[in-house]
Amino acid sequence: MKIVVLDGYTLNPGDLSWDELKALGDVVVYDRTSADKTAERIGDAEIVFTNKTVINKEVLDACPAVKFIGLLATGYNVVDVQAAKGKGIPVVNIPTYGTAAVGQFVTALLLEICHHIGEHSQSVKAGDWTNNADWCYWNHPLIELSGKTMGIIGFGRIGQQTAVIAQALGMRVLANDSYQNEALESETLKYASLDELFAKSHVISLHCPLLDSTQGIINKQNISKMRDGVIIINTSRGPLVVEEDLAEALNSGKVYAAGVDVVSAEPIKADNPLLQAKHCIITPHIAWAPIESRSRLLNIAVDNLKAFLTNAPVNVVNK
Ligand code: NAD
Repeated sequence: MKIVVLDGYTLNPGDLSWDELKALGDVVVYDRTSADKTAERIGDAEIVFTNKTVINKEVLDACPAVKFIGLLATGYNVVDVQAAKGKGIPVVNIPTYGTAAVGQFVTALLLEICHHIGEHSQSVKAGDWTNNADWCYWNHPLIELSGKTMGIIGFGRIGQQTAVIAQALGMRVLANDSYQNEALESETLKYASLDELFAKSHVISLHCPLLDSTQGIINKQNISKMRDGVIIINTSRGPLVVEEDLAEALNSGKVYAAGVDVVSAEPIKADNPLLQAKHCIITPHIAWAPIESRSRLLNIAVDNLKAFLTNAPVNVVNK
């Protein structure tokens, strides 16, 4: 059985092993695959894994041997799942693997904004402390989170994990979700309308999926409803934010700071307005990527294939 991994590098740049997959067939792993090479590389393989490489109808038509498409990710928009269904090919994804890692990363972005630890350490090593008149100094305002409110838009797995950490830091949480589970509410955690969340939150963290209804949810109009000096964190999807509007609000000081792990086009374009905006921390979509999460992801991908091979497919997104 031929197995092709079209773009394995981001999942496994060399610190994980493909051996479990290799035990199931003849495996060829490509680091990355461009659109013009996709069909050629799949060739007569029966099993295909992709992370971000597009598998559209043309590719499926050109590769009639394909019997199974495994995503190395949660999102499956890169595969034409209906065309695959029409050909009887199950497309399976990894529903969850990185909840803890992303919740932790939200906290890392937020704490960096509150304390600028990296920058202070660099300043010390550059001699600023040695030459300082006083026994301590700080280059930015330092922010205590305890007693402040975090608004979480999208109260699913990662939103709830983020809420646990925020509450451990002494924050109150306002959650907004299209589905409410009142059992999750407590003295320090309440559901709220978007407008209430915008008006009351000191920190707003995005954890909803990218849908027509959520695209551009952080825009000029909604930013005007927020507290002056709000902090915005986005680890979900770049297009949730109208980047020109956020950049303008950062430059005016309406938004004190932002931490974003995702942007509208990835890799980030050189003219993305957030690159020049004040107080904007940008990381290259790494919230998911601790080795523990990637290892979990790879194990689930292999288990997905094993389940398919025993005629009991799981995590099928195009049933
Ligand atoms: P989830 O499905 O568990 O939670 C999403 C929540 O959003 C659900 O509770 C859903 O009801 C809610 N929602 C849907 N539409 C909404 C709307 N219009 N308004 C408010 N809430 C709405 O998903 P998750 O596992 O928590 O993941 C959340 C996001 O994080 C996803 O978009 C995912 O792509 C992203 N993510 C990013 C990284 C990264 O590396 N940066 C890693 C993993 C996941």
